[in-house]
Amino acid sequence: MPEVCRFAPSTTGSAHPGTLLAGLLAWLDARSRGARFVLRLEDLDPERCQPVFATQMLEDLRWFGLDWDLLEQQSRHAVGHQAALLQLVHAGRVYRCNCSRAQIKAHGLPGADGGYAYPNLCRPNVVTPTNFAAPGVLRVRLDEGEISAQDESGQSLSQNPSTALGDPVVRRRDGAFAYNFAVVVDDGRIGVTRVVRGRDIAPSTATQVILQRLLALPTPTYRHHLLLLEERGDKLAKLHGAIGVRALRAQYTAAELCGVLAQGAGLNPEGKPLMPRALLAGFAWERVPSFDQTLRVEGGRLYWR
Ligand SMILES: [Zn+2]
Repeated sequence: MPEVCRFAPSTTGSAHPGTLLAGLLAWLDARSRGARFVLRLEDLDPERCQPVFATQMLEDLRWFGLDWDLLEQQSRHAVGHQAALLQLVHAGRVYRCNCSRAQIKAHGLPGADGGYAYPNLCRPNVVTPTNFAAPGVLRVRLDEGEISAQDESGQSLSQNPSTALGDPVVRRRDGAFAYNFAVVVDDGRIGVTRVVRGRDIAPSTATQVILQRLLALPTPTYRHHLLLLEERGDKLAKLHGAIGVRALRAQYTAAELCGVLAQGAGLNPEGKPLMPRALLAGFAWERVPSFDQTLRVEGGRLYWR
């Protein structure tokens, strides 16, 4: 059985350098091991995702020199999400949550993701196959207990998800399927065996693993990588809006931009221009630093700190 890797950017905005670096690392991981590479556009957020961002994302990734064996759009697979939800409803696992963000915050339970953990307050409001479709937030009741999981790098991802983050939302107030749930259902349907993604998502891994078990889906191998940070005042923040790929394309050729990003990823020490394909022969995760890298954006160009 060939391995299947995926890159799953959200289309809530335009691509930025962090998107390209994440795509590059997932692509190198897949192509260097002869795996199938799936590009999945995560476009479930009805308010923030726009078709124009999806079109631009594909165009920017192609320009950058990435290719894929299968293109998916998460929003086209609502039937699968709905079927998986019904499966959990039938198991008596799904309940309606009426808590506001402020109520959850007021409980003050620190969450593993830096936010607040949900205190599992609404568990008695179990829904049934006849009433689950009514609008409102749905959560899934998790069992207590530690889920042991490990990143391929050796880092522990073990956690008790029912307290570390609380029971996850499966369907949001706006009717969209929630991130953790949709990711697990889609990875299962596609047969993903390797998940390569930024380390900001690492705290959700145990929740995803427990959802896989509830849905009788296999657990892939996980590899979390460094993030790109930017300086905002005297703080470091995950790189987002500072500069988009569209603006960078006015300053750089694809090979130049790939050269810069690969330098930050430890794969191109001198930062010389090259396309992703030229990095394949020398690619090894041991060369990629595990700590985040900081960029300074000046005059539309990128500089490493
Ligand atoms: Zn609640």
